[in-house]
Formats: sequence, structure tokens, C-alpha cells
Amino acid sequence: MIEIVRGEHDTGPPKHSEHLKDLKHDFLASIVVFLVAVPLSLGVAFAAGAPLLSGLISAVVGGLVASLFGGSPLQVSGPSAALTVVLADTIATHGWPVTCAITVAAGLLQIFFGLTRAARAALAVSPAIVHGLLAGIGVTLVLGQLHVVLGGSAQGSALANVLALPGQVAGHHDKAVLIGVVTLGVLLAWPRLPAAVRRVPAPLAAVALATGLSVVTGMTLARVDLPAGLPPLHIVPRLPDGGWGSFAVAAVTIALIAGLESLLSAVSVDKLRGGRRTDLDRELIGQGAANVAAGALGGFPVTGVIVRSMTNYEAGARTRASAVLHCGWILAACLLFTGVLRLIPLAALAALLVYVGTKLVNLNGLKEVRRHGDLPVYVVTLAGAVAVNLLTGVAAGVLFALALMLRRMIFSGIHVERDGERHRVVIEGALTFLSVPRLTRVLAEVPLHAEVTLELHVDFLDHAAFDCLRGWQQAHAGCVTVDEIGHPWFGRGRSGKPTVRRSVAARVVPRWLAPWSQWQAEHVVLPAQRTASSLLCRGASEFQRRTAPLLRDTWSGLAHGQQPHTLFITCGDARIVPNLITTSGPGDLFTVRNIGNLVPPAGGTDSSVGAAIEYAVGVLEVAEIVVCGHSGCGAMKALLGRAPAGLDQLGSWLRHGDATLRRRSREAPLLLGGERPAAEADQLALQNVVQQLETLRGYPVVAAALDRGALRLTGMYFDVGAAQVSLLDAAARGFVPAGALEH
Ligand code: ZN
Repeated sequence: MIEIVRGEHDTGPPKHSEHLKDLKHDFLASIVVFLVAVPLSLGVAFAAGAPLLSGLISAVVGGLVASLFGGSPLQVSGPSAALTVVLADTIATHGWPVTCAITVAAGLLQIFFGLTRAARAALAVSPAIVHGLLAGIGVTLVLGQLHVVLGGSAQGSALANVLALPGQVAGHHDKAVLIGVVTLGVLLAWPRLPAAVRRVPAPLAAVALATGLSVVTGMTLARVDLPAGLPPLHIVPRLPDGGWGSFAVAAVTIALIAGLESLLSAVSVDKLRGGRRTDLDRELIGQGAANVAAGALGGFPVTGVIVRSMTNYEAGARTRASAVLHCGWILAACLLFTGVLRLIPLAALAALLVYVGTKLVNLNGLKEVRRHGDLPVYVVTLAGAVAVNLLTGVAAGVLFALALMLRRMIFSGIHVERDGERHRVVIEGALTFLSVPRLTRVLAEVPLHAEVTLELHVDFLDHAAFDCLRGWQQAHAGCVTVDEIGHPWFGRGRSGKPTVRRSVAARVVPRWLAPWSQWQAEHVVLPAQRTASSLLCRGASEFQRRTAPLLRDTWSGLAHGQQPHTLFITCGDARIVPNLITTSGPGDLFTVRNIGNLVPPAGGTDSSVGAAIEYAVGVLEVAEIVVCGHSGCGAMKALLGRAPAGLDQLGSWLRHGDATLRRRSREAPLLLGGERPAAEADQLALQNVVQQLETLRGYPVVAAALDRGALRLTGMYFDVGAAQVSLLDAAARGFVPAGALEH
């Protein structure tokens, strides 16, 4: 016992006093759960037509074994309303002793599932099917028990129950009806009563009040029939003489439904406990062992039950001890208070089960199912479960869910857009043989001589779909432009390369990050059209169609003014893309670009850069100025004496770099990632960044902002070949990779 209790603590070895504190909470919770469990256990057994004692045996023996060996410490196990429907059928077909053997077989199956680690897979079944199944059980249960509450008995099937219901309502009523209605009334009214009253669990209150009423008024009606004292325990199960097929079906059904409910319940408790993960396979093994034990001793099949587990958690249980103790209290009640239990009218139990049955139709779960668009699957499962049987319901639900998925795949985004004479066929999603009929129909809408752009944004393209597209492209008389966004499935297929790949993660550069040459080269465009201006036009129209819609809100927010964070001074070099290397967007960077990212001294003849600095710092009040140099810079090479001849303006501008050259001969060399760059021009580029920061401090507006602590200066260097951004770090006597220096 002590060992098990200790196992539940996550944080260090618990002290002795904490054990005592836990035990106090567990003790109180166990009593609350016990009070809920007794009427429910009797009711479930009664509703299924099993011996009433079997419900209590299940709660004691099954509950104990599952609590000791299961994976979910706060889970309470016992006979469950979810099993009444299948058990009623099984008992009617096989009789009670064989049903007990079926329970043992179901337990062995569950142990097998647990050992083969099937639990997680079981939960992968669509929630719509699980909720539909439970709702189907609830509806069937309510329809049957309503007849009992109204003084009759349940018919053979749900449909028969519905048909007979009007007659039952109008027909003979006796005292049992009054008891049933009182019980239901108390159960419905209980949640609206003051909190102090609600500390008594509703099922206990309802059954106790109904029992009291029946005793005080001296009604003679059917009551709980339990043997006095401890019944002689013996091995009940008997194997059938024949009919092994239906024996196996029943065992599988019970194993699946009991397993599913146990796992659902364990997961629900995990959610309450803040997402702690139960070992679901161990839970399934514990539940299987409980069913073997309960079945062998003539008990009802066991599952982890949601209502009792939630009650256990809400009553303050902390460890396994609560669920274990609750079994002890039930056993004590059977031995000591049989006389009291025998006063309970059966009509009260039936009413309790009607109430529990309606709870199986989980409205919150239904809302979730609706939100995910799975309502049809839910309805099909529910209808199948109610009209035929539970396994049929599940099978129908699974088949229907598969059919819906196929339909979604077949009708994946394939459509034609028209822009005057031009046609654009847009194809998105997975394109497989299933989509071929739809694809053929859409392509047939395009006139034979029309100019067409085939825009492919596909996750997958199989052989049949490729053949279909390729065949259509070859047969089409007009010009066809294939525009592949994302993984180039079609292009690879056309050039005979394998289209199957092992890894699912595509490493395709999105259009807005990749240079034109990478995505426009693939286009089927006439050579005459492939001019610089057509590249630009294509890029602009691509932006307009794909990127602008994504950023429209951002730009509309910026329409009335800019509030950039940073003044970014960098070289005009085409390989530097400021927004890309700083992961910034519209409105972030106020940018100045010139040859060599040079800052002329304050008060000099060139006012272009100075104007930008004054405006950015004085008016826009940027918080940071970045000077970004780069490797392979033509301006640095020119400063080192390799200037192209005959360019007067360029020569005159580059004189602003003289300060950098003087700095190089004066200062120690700077390091890049701990090493000196090999190329002389790159060493100069590093010195150049530091020099420009120095020059910036000479601007009065910059000096004032620095004094106020409202501005900071950052040196940056981009190694083009390595795609590496580095930042100036005084401590490292140079530049360090951007990732290494988290500012
Ligand atoms: Zn440059």
C-alpha cells in the first residue's frame, strides 16, 4: 500500500506528514465515491437483467483489481451503464454463467491489447464515432428503462421500445411510476440546490428519498433482492455448449466498449489534473485483469467510469488509496447494511439509469464534433448503434468517416479562374487517381485554343494524376504555362526524375523568399518574352495575387504613417536583402542604401545620408541604427585600389571611405566568428562598419539621443557565401554569429 501511494508523487520523496494529509483527503473522497457507486452498481446490473449482486461484486472485486494495477491512479472502476445494452443482449442469448465466461474472455483480450500497446491507437478512433457510440448506448438505455419507470418492462429492441412508448405512457400506472418520477425529479432538481445540500451526491439523495417515501407510505412494490450476509464465493463462469461465434462477438464487443470507456475516462481525469499523462497501456492491462477477476467470481464486467472518476477527483482524492478504500466501504455495506439496501425500490434504480443514460449523450462532446464538421459521422454511428447494435454502429461510423475523407480528397481544390481570354486552372491539395475524374471534367471546361496557366500547389501528385495533366497539356492547342508553387512534382515528373520522396517535409523555398531565377526559369515562356521587364511584371503580379492578400491588413494599418524601429544603413549590393536577414516586414526598417554603406561626416558637403539620419532619429525617433556591411563588397575592393577607371562620381563618393582606410592602418584587425577573414576586402568591410558607427556619433542629433539613452548603435556584417549574419561585439574584438549573441 505505502509503496503504491509513494509512486503517485512526482516531486521528490514525500514526508510522513504529507502521507497523512493525502490519506485524509483520500479517505473523505472514498466515502463520497462509495455513496455514488452503490446505487449505480445496483442500477446497472438491474438494467442489464443481471443478478443485482453481480453489480456489487464488480464494484468491489473489479474496482479493487483495476485500482491496484491500472495506470490511472484517480480512476474509479466498476459496472458501467455503457455496458448494459450489450450485456442485456448477451444474457438473453447465453444465460448468466456463460456471460461470466464472456467477461473473462473480454478481460483476457484487453490484457492482450494492453501488452501489444494498442491503447493510443484505440483513442485515434474519430471522437465523432466514440461520442456517437456512447450516445447510442445512452439512447437505447433510456428507451428501455423508461418503460420500467412507467411500470412496464423493456421491449426487445430500441425500435420496439419507441413504438410501445405511447401505449406505456397512456396505459397502466402503479405506485412504481410515482417512485420513478420522484427519483428523476430529485436528480434533475439537485444541481439547482444550494451548495451545502449538494455535498450529498445526487444519485444517493434521489434513491434515498425515493426509498424513504416508499417505506413511509408502506408501498408494496419490487425492491432490491440481495442475499443476506456474505454470499458464498465460487467460480461462476461456464463455457457454452455451442454458439462460439456469438460468444466471440460478445467478448470482442465488451472488450472494445469497456476499453474505450476506460481510456476516455482516464484521459478526462488527466485533463482535470492538468494534463498529466496516464500510462494508457497499463490502464488497459489493469482493466483486463479486473474483468478476469470480476467475471470469474460472477461479477458484472468492469470499466473505468467517467462519472465516478470525476466525482473522485472533485471530492479531493490525491492517490490510488481513495479508489481502493471505496471498494472496502462497498464490501462493508454488503455485509452490514444488506437490510437497508433491500429497501431500495427497483423503480428508483430504473429512474437513476434513465438519468445516467441521458448523460451518455454528451452535449459538450457533440458541440466539438459539430465544430469539426463530423456531425454526419456521429449521427450515422448513433443511428447504427440504436437501430441494429453497437458493433454495427461503430462499423458504419468508420466506413462513413472513410467515405467522407475520400470525398474531400476527390474534390480537393480544383477550379478554373477566368481573366478575359486567359484561363487559370488552380489545383491545390493532394492530387491522386481519385481526383482524376474531377480533374478531367474541370480541364474539359477550358476552350481548346485558350491561353492557360496551370497553377499547381499540390502536396502530392501520383502517377495517374500526372498522366492526366501531362496528357491534357500535350493535347491542348493553346499556350500552357505550368506554374508550380511548392514542391515541383510536375516538373520532376516531366523531366523523368522520381517523384516519390521519403521525407514528407518539403524543402522548397517559398516564392517570396526565392530569387526570380529560381521560380521563373521553370516557366514555359517564349524566349522573346523573357526580358528583365517581364521578370519584374511576373514578380509584381505574383505579389499581387499571393502576398498582398496576406499583408493587406498590415499595410492598411500603416496607411497613415510609419513608425519604424530601426534606421538600417547598408550597401546597395543586390545580394543584401535587409528585411530577409532581419526577419522584419513592412514598417520595420527605415532604410538608407548607398555604395559601401558609407556615412559622410556631419557638416560635410553630402547631405543625402545626413538628412535621412536627422529625420529618422529626430522625427521618427528610431530606437536603433544598424550599419550593415557584407563580404565581397565592390566598394571595399575599390578602396583597396581596384576602382574602375573613368567613373568620376563614384571616385568622389568613395573618398568618404578614406577614414576607414586610416582606421585599418591604425587599429588592430577585427575578428569574424573568432578568426580573421581571408580576403583583404572583407577585413576592410569589418573596419568600415566600425568606422561608420564612429562617424554617426559625430551627428549632434545622434549624440543627443545617445546621451538620453534613447538610441543604440549596432554593427552588422553579412557573409554572402555562408548566409551568415554576424553582429559587432566589443568583448569579442570583432563580429560574432547572430545566434550566439541573444540581445
Ligand atoms: Zn557592397
